[in-house]
Amino acid sequence: CRRLVLILGDQLDEASSAFEDFDPAQDRVLMVEAFEESTHVWSHKIRTTLFLSAMRHFAEGLRERGWLVDYRALDTDGDQTISEGLLAAIAAHQPLAIVGVEPGDMRVRQQIENAVKSIAVGARVQTATSLKATKTVPKVSASAPRLSWREDKHFLCGLPQFRAWAGQSRSLRMEFFYRTLRKQYKVLMDDVKPDAPIGGQWNFDADNRKSFGKAGPKNLPSVPKFELDDITKDVIDLVNTHFADHPGQLDDFNWPVTRLQALQALQSFIDERLPQFGPHEDAMWTHLEFGWHSLLSSSLNLKLLNPLEVVLAAEAAYKKHGLDLASVEGFIRQVLGWREFMRGVYFLDMPELKTANHYGHTQPLPKWYWTGDTHMNCMKQCIGQTLKNGYSHHIQRLMVTGMFGVTAELSPQQVCDWYLAVYVDAVEWVELPNTAGMALFANGGRFTSKPYVASGAYVKRMSNYCAGCKYEPESRVGNDACPMTTLYWNFLDKHEASFAGNPRTALMVKNLQRMTPELRAQVRERAGEMLADLDNL
Ligand code: FAD
Ligand code: SF4
Repeated sequence: CRRLVLILGDQLDEASSAFEDFDPAQDRVLMVEAFEESTHVWSHKIRTTLFLSAMRHFAEGLRERGWLVDYRALDTDGDQTISEGLLAAIAAHQPLAIVGVEPGDMRVRQQIENAVKSIAVGARVQTATSLKATKTVPKVSASAPRLSWREDKHFLCGLPQFRAWAGQSRSLRMEFFYRTLRKQYKVLMDDVKPDAPIGGQWNFDADNRKSFGKAGPKNLPSVPKFELDDITKDVIDLVNTHFADHPGQLDDFNWPVTRLQALQALQSFIDERLPQFGPHEDAMWTHLEFGWHSLLSSSLNLKLLNPLEVVLAAEAAYKKHGLDLASVEGFIRQVLGWREFMRGVYFLDMPELKTANHYGHTQPLPKWYWTGDTHMNCMKQCIGQTLKNGYSHHIQRLMVTGMFGVTAELSPQQVCDWYLAVYVDAVEWVELPNTAGMALFANGGRFTSKPYVASGAYVKRMSNYCAGCKYEPESRVGNDACPMTTLYWNFLDKHEASFAGNPRTALMVKNLQRMTPELRAQVRERAGEMLADLDNL
């Protein structure tokens, strides 16, 4: 064929730049299901099911257009890696060129480039030795096809624009980037005053940090239910067969796997949850799985939804129904601001971001991250929800499972691998900056002004988790000391000088300095015991 158009599992966009000059008479689409994509981190069964089902549905849509799709399925072709599937397809179709959209994971990009290069030098591509079954890849006799990457037009800020915005700055701030995009796309802008935000403020974050109080959440909104069709049922069987020992379970699988379902998810969010999205965005409650969150991240990241259509739908609902501006702005900031910003940071800071370890933390990930089997009720709840649904909301990820990662001195790479494995929306371009950068401060605060650390008092204020816990959130020492609290004070104690030197954290140090030297010594001792036995917390 003339061109082989490679579509990866998170590139399921019919308007993709890869299809721009597609000629069904001469070109062919290639999609590869590869074991490695579920095994390089120990991928949650829901995550694998979502990707494979969405890929199969997408391929079906392309075939309905009459396009030729070489779809290499896991259960029939058994490719270990994407490059293995690519080389087999090159051998079969002898394309002159391979076209793809820039992958959102540098590992995948490197692998594909190496595979194509290996043809040029006539080498065979090695399959990773760690994978169970290794296969010999057919040797390609023709000259190597040209590989070209096209820009991912799904995003609202292209990488050249982000690089120009970031310039040589060592410290990047999302807030200023977000304002630039608000102006550029004319989103929530004042109709009369030039370059001014609607409501006179760019950011209503302060209105969006309420807890549920003692009474707990009320008038919970609904979330859409998606019927499983035969394609998804087949994939569920496949995942249960091939990845039986992987974390999570599939009884509750309920994520959009087609563009149509993703549009239904968007509509349901706009109608049912956006009006109240803001106030309790950060709040947590036992067994509260989704609250007023949008649940759109997986559809956005698989490219079933376009971010601009999501942002414009929220803005239109605000204008039509006079919704609460703090809720609508809070939501739009996440999509137009944080999501675009994180992608820019990933490509700017790779590959260093992948190994960043500002504090030199090396503790292994406690085993209960994979089971939820811990006495710490906050962790048990957040991990339990994650294992059940492949989902937890931002504050659960940042201020519970992430925050523990910093104060318990966990290896950033092990924590990042966990986040990449367990969430339905996890793709490295968005997972890594959020985990290494935002949650773990592993990049030394490239875009955050301080580490996100707090004591158990924060968890107590924002949830009811502490009421059902063996530990006492206020206790720093003793058997019932809350690990969140003890490890927080221990962390401050260790990094006192750097916290004291930062105006955003100086107050924390003042509180630390109110403790007697004896109490500080006891905290250090109790923290030492905890750090030596994290698996049993
Ligand atoms: P909502 O709360 O409804 O937010 C709306 C949308 O905004 C989301 O769908 C998402 O697309 C976007 N968004 C919100 N916050 C962020 C953010 N910080 N960065 C990028 N986009 C954002 N998000 C992922 O999509 N994939 C990940 O792998 C991922 N890993 C994370 C790891 C950690 C440690 C942390 C703290 C956050 C992570 N996030 C990740 C960001 C955020 O937690 C999720 O996007 C969000 O919880 C998804 O749920 P939702 O769709 O209901 O989001
Ligand atoms: Fe978490 Fe501590 Fe509260 Fe227990 S007491 S739920 S460990 S913050």
